[in-house]
Amino acid sequence: MRRLPLPELERVDAEHRAAGQPWLLTRLCGYEPWIGPFFRPGEGPCWSCLAYRLEQHRGYEGPLQQALGLDRPLVRPIASLSAGRVMAAQSAVLEAAKWLAGLRYADQGALRTVDTLNLRTRVHAVSRIPQCPSCGEPGLTGRRVWAPFVPVSRTKAGQGGGDRALSPDQLLRRHAHLVSPITGIVPVLEPSPVRRSSPPPMCRGTTWRCASAVLRACVRRAAARA
Ligand SMILES: [Zn+2]
Repeated sequence: MRRLPLPELERVDAEHRAAGQPWLLTRLCGYEPWIGPFFRPGEGPCWSCLAYRLEQHRGYEGPLQQALGLDRPLVRPIASLSAGRVMAAQSAVLEAAKWLAGLRYADQGALRTVDTLNLRTRVHAVSRIPQCPSCGEPGLTGRRVWAPFVPVSRTKAGQGGGDRALSPDQLLRRHAHLVSPITGIVPVLEPSPVRRSSPPPMCRGTTWRCASAVLRACVRRAAARA
């Protein structure tokens, strides 16, 4: 895995994992503050799992960071109002109080954003990365790549799935938690613009968006070489 942003949070996470203590991530600044997730030692994802996903969505910063010789993302001006920061801080205090009172619910493991322009909240699932160097098996990917390929016969999904084992709806239900502009592998799913004139099957947009992600990665690498 690549070098991850904000190494000081990696240290915070390592210290809490060693002490067996949970901790709550909060971002107070920006027009969209973050509250959560609670990182729990021995359970679910760790900070490195989340940092890896964050880094994937900040590709535009890489060439800039490299050009300026920085070992971390460029510090940007804090774009927020004190009212938004206070709201985020109070929300984080409320979450911490509920946690200390023993209340547990599924969204405590997610990153929640509050859009201060319209006060909409959104839940972004945070997934554990199996090959995470901090909480997983770093050699897992290499082992799987070198493992012999064993073809297995499966029933085809049929309608809308081509020769795939899952239909688009099934695929979306299984992997929807990986769609997020902050914590996901795919930033967003939407119908491909070239197909908007006729109703496309669900997930048709995935190919277009994934291709965009690949294109962005190519542009990033080209810029880094320049
Ligand atoms: Zn991890």
